[in-house]
Amino acid sequence: MNLTVSGIVLKVSQSGDSDRFCTILTDSHGVISAFAKGAKSMKNKNSTATAQFVYGHFELYRRRDYYIMDESQYEELYTGLREDILRLSAAQYLCQLTMELVPEEQPAAGFLQLMRAALWYLSENSRPMQLVKAAAEMRMLSISGYMPDLVMCRECGAYEHDLMYFIPATGQITCDKCGVKGGEYAIKLGRGAMTAMRHSVYADLKKLFAFSLQDESLKQFSDAAEAFAISKLEKSLTTLEFLHTMM
Ligand SMILES: [Zn+2]
Repeated sequence: MNLTVSGIVLKVSQSGDSDRFCTILTDSHGVISAFAKGAKSMKNKNSTATAQFVYGHFELYRRRDYYIMDESQYEELYTGLREDILRLSAAQYLCQLTMELVPEEQPAAGFLQLMRAALWYLSENSRPMQLVKAAAEMRMLSISGYMPDLVMCRECGAYEHDLMYFIPATGQITCDKCGVKGGEYAIKLGRGAMTAMRHSVYADLKKLFAFSLQDESLKQFSDAAEAFAISKLEKSLTTLEFLHTMM
């Protein structure tokens, strides 16, 4: 059965001398694997669209537990990512996070839209890398069944406070007055970081990356989002560790 999907190439493995094996986040079938015969050769019709980070349209047919790529057409190459190792590494981390969070053979159009926006902002370099990474982490986790509860302090119901705490293990917040329980790991959030956390989870996707933060707030927001990702995955990822060696 033939299948036409739109998607982003998350990972490319070489297969033999001339072939490529691609892991693709698709709109209709989640994360799938596709074999592209001869795609390593520049002359091959599928060579451009089967590179990492490319957004394109793919015609596939099923073969056992993977797909064979017939035709492909690229739409967005995000070439700006190649200009900076930090933004490239962040993009690689978001690709690995996607592979961890998105199941195979299930619709993932919302996740794909989110990834397209994140890669676009990283490629254009119009927002700090940490801001794009943190907003993407919070949103990816939220739409993958790990929605945090950032509405109010879990103890007293306060909406705002100069200082609040985010608890990565439970995805809850508390205010400075109520504090955290003994032994509970929490990250301090000033007003700027708290607003950013709420925005990253509840804002319309079109506006997700359209904000800015002072350095101190950005650090808190970035630390909170990353701690939440590690807590929910119950592990760190190799691409995240690599990103840290670059920072
Ligand atoms: Zn409270």
